[in-house]
Amino acid sequence: MTWYERLGVRRVINADARLTRLGGSIMPPEVVEAMAEAARWYVDIDELQRAVGRRLAELTRNEAAYVTSGAAAGLTLATLACVTGPDPVRIARHLALFPATEGFPDEVVIHAAHRIPYDPAVRLAGVRLVSIGTVLKTEPWELEAALTERTAAVLYVAGAHLSRGALPLARVVEIAHASGVPVIVDAAAQLPPVENLWTFTRELGADLAIFSGGKDLGGPQSTGLIVGRADLVEAIRLHGAPNQRLGRPFKVSREEIVGLLAAVERYLRLDHDARRRACEATIAQWIDALRDLPGVRVFRIFPNEAGQPLPRLGVEPDPTRCRLTARELRDRLWDGDPRIAVALHDDRYISLTAETLEPGEAELVVERLRRLLGDAAAASRA
Ligand SMILES: *Cc1c(COP(=O)(O)O)cnc(C)c1O
Repeated sequence: MTWYERLGVRRVINADARLTRLGGSIMPPEVVEAMAEAARWYVDIDELQRAVGRRLAELTRNEAAYVTSGAAAGLTLATLACVTGPDPVRIARHLALFPATEGFPDEVVIHAAHRIPYDPAVRLAGVRLVSIGTVLKTEPWELEAALTERTAAVLYVAGAHLSRGALPLARVVEIAHASGVPVIVDAAAQLPPVENLWTFTRELGADLAIFSGGKDLGGPQSTGLIVGRADLVEAIRLHGAPNQRLGRPFKVSREEIVGLLAAVERYLRLDHDARRRACEATIAQWIDALRDLPGVRVFRIFPNEAGQPLPRLGVEPDPTRCRLTARELRDRLWDGDPRIAVALHDDRYISLTAETLEPGEAELVVERLRRLLGDAAAASRA
């Protein structure tokens, strides 16, 4: 019996996305083994962080890198770093004043189009978010006008799905740097493509980029990767655990630090083109297996919900011909054993992804869908 069985916690087949509420991702055996090995000895955490940071920087072609406890924690730490810089005296003075911020920049500029449910993590660093533009359009002068001596950083949320209404990142970097303001990129879910590990910082000039360790990287769910400028990464290190500073609650264990490194090493060795083709093949097989069902439209969605170059399957019951609504279909899939998690869109259709599935699960998913939708169609004819 597994721990989950003993606890009566049902297994979930994740056809939704790399979601924290479902556990993020499944760590490959080499990551779990690296963690188990790291658990066997004590080490000096600062020495380990620095050594892993150097290796991660080399692997991701960046100046410096840091392992934190998730991309959201990375947003808080990156903001703190931009507020104080790497001077330990300034960091101590900032801590003594906190949550007051006299003498420190206390605003972070963000496109209205980039307001996401994770942006409170920035405010946790004691700053105010200043929105520019509208969700539909932002002009360069709006960014220029928002940059003052109070500006600590610009936060840019990457993703094709958010680019409408926002200035291009290269333009933001150009304008921000002209005022001496650093740019932080929230790229939490922007892997794949793997090149994003260096594109935002090395090619587009952002000062820091932040990735989730527990999404497509397949690292420990409670890790995040920050890459970028060495002085800002040093400031992050000074704010973070094991130092007793504001970033202390975001501690990562030695197992997680080594686990994320093993995950990044593996990620860079993967054949990403083959992975993409395998996802496309699963979506095509799903469409083939479902297209004859009456009263249901099945279709390919591209790019995915995070703007990544991966396909999804859309399944839309026709309310006049199918007895199940999209919401009921989502609920039936979730209520089975194992549960199957899918996304619901506007109560109109559900969507599924393939890259989160384990071997054999794609078949289980399509069987369950065929059974539920076949029964619904039969009942509506009766
Ligand atoms: C997932 C996500 C986060 C949070 O990442 P964690 O690693 O779970 O902390 C932040 N920003 C965006 C855009 C995300 O997609």
